Amino acid sequence: MSTYTIISPVTEKPVQELHLADVAETDATIAKAQKAFESWRLVTPGDRAKLLRKFAAIVDAHNEELAQLEVLNSGHTIGNARWEAGNVRDVLNYYSAAPERLFGRQIPVPNGIDITFKEPLGVIGIIVPWNFPMPIAGWGFGPALAAGNTVVLKPAELTPLTAIRLGELALEAGIPEGVFNVIPGKGSVVGDRFVTHPLVRKIVFTGSTGVGKQIMRGCADQVKRLTLELGGKSANIIFADADIEKAAAGAPGAVFDNAGQDCCARSRILIQRSAYDKFMELFEGAVKKFRVEDPSLDTAEMGPLISKVQFDRVSEFLPSGSPIAFQGNKPEGAGYWFAPTVLTPKDSNDRAYREEIFGPVVSVLPFEDEADAIRIANDSEYGLSGSIWSRDIGRAVRVSRAVEAGNLSVNSNSSVRYWTPFGGYKQSGLGRELGPDALDAFTETKNVFFDTQV
Ligand code: NAP
Ligand code: MG
Repeated sequence: MSTYTIISPVTEKPVQELHLADVAETDATIAKAQKAFESWRLVTPGDRAKLLRKFAAIVDAHNEELAQLEVLNSGHTIGNARWEAGNVRDVLNYYSAAPERLFGRQIPVPNGIDITFKEPLGVIGIIVPWNFPMPIAGWGFGPALAAGNTVVLKPAELTPLTAIRLGELALEAGIPEGVFNVIPGKGSVVGDRFVTHPLVRKIVFTGSTGVGKQIMRGCADQVKRLTLELGGKSANIIFADADIEKAAAGAPGAVFDNAGQDCCARSRILIQRSAYDKFMELFEGAVKKFRVEDPSLDTAEMGPLISKVQFDRVSEFLPSGSPIAFQGNKPEGAGYWFAPTVLTPKDSNDRAYREEIFGPVVSVLPFEDEADAIRIANDSEYGLSGSIWSRDIGRAVRVSRAVEAGNLSVNSNSSVRYWTPFGGYKQSGLGRELGPDALDAFTETKNVFFDTQV
């Protein structure tokens, strides 16, 4: 029997010991989910909607408990953690409107009637990373359950506590046993079994690009459906004609939120050369004011990194002689604290500039003009997110059309809303989550022709 000890990233002390599932237990849970699918798919649309709304209400009633659990397990700031639990509620409420609206089409054909149906897939395997345990789980299980599928969910080994609690709350809401199953375990055991088990009909994976590629290869064996949300190295593109004060004030949060452990982190700042000095002066002031402190404080803007392993990984991006322009503050003592760090590399070949760091480190690079900005922004294997700052409407439209990324914001750094689509270009992912079309990713389209000549 294998176990895992959860360590608090704030105190470095053990929080809880947890049993990790093996392959046999994973198979048993998948079998249970398959059995539950036979009846869950037949629950009437109105009743399925009611159960999802009840689930949302119970999550809402436990918002503070879930948030505190995330602070304990993951070191998220309490403000963020409350938003994260609220996001699960919102996603459930949004997709609770879906069961009665899973429309097909009626297509004109000779000698009969042609209708399409959106059928559920069966058991959906959801594999979640440690950076946003609650929202990323919810983006999968909300629409999956609404479309009539059942779910097996594997939280990250490091951060399973809120997922386990959400599984209990689903039962409390009256979601039948076996419909929503949380299985804590190793990626190489439980996650891999989701990929190889023939009754898991689809994988929803969020995590690193390396593991994502491996899962994609595995899914090919069974032509298993797959959604991938992978890494990012998003650009925050600031033109000289922008509101530089506003862009500089927002830039620390855009990359250092969640200690930079955010796939949407704007970890490359591209600033037009004529505004470089003004921006850097304002940005330095904003970084030095950024509050890195005990995440349970309401004032905290950033907590520690998730683990010692992540701390070491981020540190490796900053060997001695790194082009550090300035750094923010961090507390002393226990905890995996990493000071917000701003780099000014000579060119775009720097490893810290090109690779996803997943820590509070940002590289600033100047550009000359619009074409130069687009070229530099797109010179990346990733394409998840990004921001464009300009007062010129035409330019904002042109650049937002030209940047190869799935989620952009203009004169803002906000790119995630549960009712708009989310996902990446290039090696940042495959498919889209959230928004009005997410149900398509959890259903098969079935076409049926009825002959009316008989
Ligand atoms: P990771 O190492 O790829 O792990 C993600 C999940 O996959 C974990 O639950 C992990 O289990 C599991 N896993 C590992 N190996 C597996 C295998 N062979 N088969 C099946 N599952 C396996 O990623 P991470 O370090 O947790 O998360 C950071 C990455 O996630 C970053 O690259 C970030 O950009 C990306 N991310 C992307 C998005 C997006 O929406 N695009 C959002 C958030 C994060 P274990 O816990 O046992 O390792
Ligand atoms: Mg990993």
